[in-house]
Amino acid sequence: MTTTEKAAEKESVLTSVDPATGATLATYPIADDVAVADAVAKARAATGVWADLGFDGRKKALLRWSSRLVAKSDEFCALIHAENGKPVDDAFLELMLALEHISWAAKHAKKTLSPQKVSSGPMMANFAARIEYRPLGVVGVIGPWNYPVYTPNGSIAYALAAGNTVVFKPSEFSTGIGNFVAETFSEANPELPEGVFVAINGFGATGAALVKSGVDKVAFTGSAATGRKIMASAAENLTPVLLECGGKDPVIVAADADVKAAADAVAWGATSNSGQTCAGVERVYVDKSVKEQFLTELTRILKDVKPGSEDGAAYGPMTMPSQIDIVKRHIEAALASGGKALLGGPESVKGPFIEPVVLVDVDENSAAVKEETFGPTVTVTTVENIDQAIELANNTTFGLASAVYSKNNGLEIARRLKVGATSVNSVLGFAAIPGLPFGGSADSGIGRIHGEPGLREFVRPHSIAVQRFAIPGMALMSYSRTQANMKMLRKMVPLLHGRNK
Ligand code: NAD
Repeated sequence: MTTTEKAAEKESVLTSVDPATGATLATYPIADDVAVADAVAKARAATGVWADLGFDGRKKALLRWSSRLVAKSDEFCALIHAENGKPVDDAFLELMLALEHISWAAKHAKKTLSPQKVSSGPMMANFAARIEYRPLGVVGVIGPWNYPVYTPNGSIAYALAAGNTVVFKPSEFSTGIGNFVAETFSEANPELPEGVFVAINGFGATGAALVKSGVDKVAFTGSAATGRKIMASAAENLTPVLLECGGKDPVIVAADADVKAAADAVAWGATSNSGQTCAGVERVYVDKSVKEQFLTELTRILKDVKPGSEDGAAYGPMTMPSQIDIVKRHIEAALASGGKALLGGPESVKGPFIEPVVLVDVDENSAAVKEETFGPTVTVTTVENIDQAIELANNTTFGLASAVYSKNNGLEIARRLKVGATSVNSVLGFAAIPGLPFGGSADSGIGRIHGEPGLREFVRPHSIAVQRFAIPGMALMSYSRTQANMKMLRKMVPLLHGRNK
């Protein structure tokens, strides 16, 4: 955080600015502890109405929300462009992906979360057993700014579909966007109480108050550093957490790769959204036999890729001013470690815009390879073979996502990567398939959004065992248990479990 950002956090009003120009877009009152508690109380009061709608009623409400977002998509995409900086077309693609997820969550919650019968097993044959899934109650969602619609929506839509109400604290860099999302839900569903889905505004302190507010789960997307603080604070009340944190995602380009396709995908995956993508391409490990062709193609594409704020710009400005220094530091660290800039260099950092930078032969211990850069830069390392590529790809504290380019062995290589998701012969393909869960391990976080696991994050399994009839003398959980029955059990157990070879 810069000094200006720290000073801003002390204010009672949050000013939203256009990152390309610095122009003020709007101001919002900051929610203090009392306002956060009020929002959570409103959400708590709405839990009954929302849960009682059932899966079918909630599906209708969620799909009405989608249609409202579509109806207002021009206005919304213009706002995303202004507040986040990304091109309008990218804003539209982000909205489209979020709509896919709202639809998937709304339509799959019933099947995924309906009560299930389970076998009671031979020892408990007189019981019927079932699992029922209950909503947790109120879910606190804390979002980032880089995909300010798509990313928090992975928690919001799934938590709502599972029957929870939501209090959402958008990033201080995407406050208007976050409020727009919550307001369209209310507009689409005027008959529902206000607390089903509410936004609260502010900086880290507002997020911290939400974590301590007594919500039933915190779903956070943001940096690993903030994720650690949230988990420590949530531990005081044993509030469960879902943490979607950063990445340092590798791409492996094997000897049998379609090299042109790989270069095209890496060029886009590393620089689109100004490289501010949690699962964006940050590191490439390319087989020595195709290295020259790959680098020639990659630099050929990227030399014509230009950031800007005008129509037709490939990507926008850096959204968060303090990130610009981090990107510059990583480029300098790469060069200081003996690396070379094949395209661009420190001079590519031009105010809020950073032009594409391709770095080669960078020491694997450099900050440019070890830390999340979150800028339009990429390191490319030549490897002797696939084993070395996999070893280096896995040599990181992150474990979010990855991609593999190989015509014949993509799946085998993917299976050896320690990550939550892999795209084979594409980048980021998994993010657009709603049924696939998304999330990481280690510094990339805990838990999953999207897909069936993403719905199950927001429910409490309730196991119910119903004794259908009593078996005389077989009351195992009773002092009336007989010795005769214990003898019979001693005979049964070896038959059931003692004959495994
Ligand atoms: P950040 O950690 O700075 O902030 C994220 C959110 O946390 C903001 O809303 C912020 O106000 C809030 N916050 C800050 N301090 C807090 C505290 N002490 N308690 C509670 N809330 C607090 O992250 P960012 O800069 O907004 O986002 C960029 C990061 O997010 C990158 O690391 C990126 O990789 C990651 N990210 C991950 C995913 C994913 O799905 N895994 C998706 C998008 C972004």
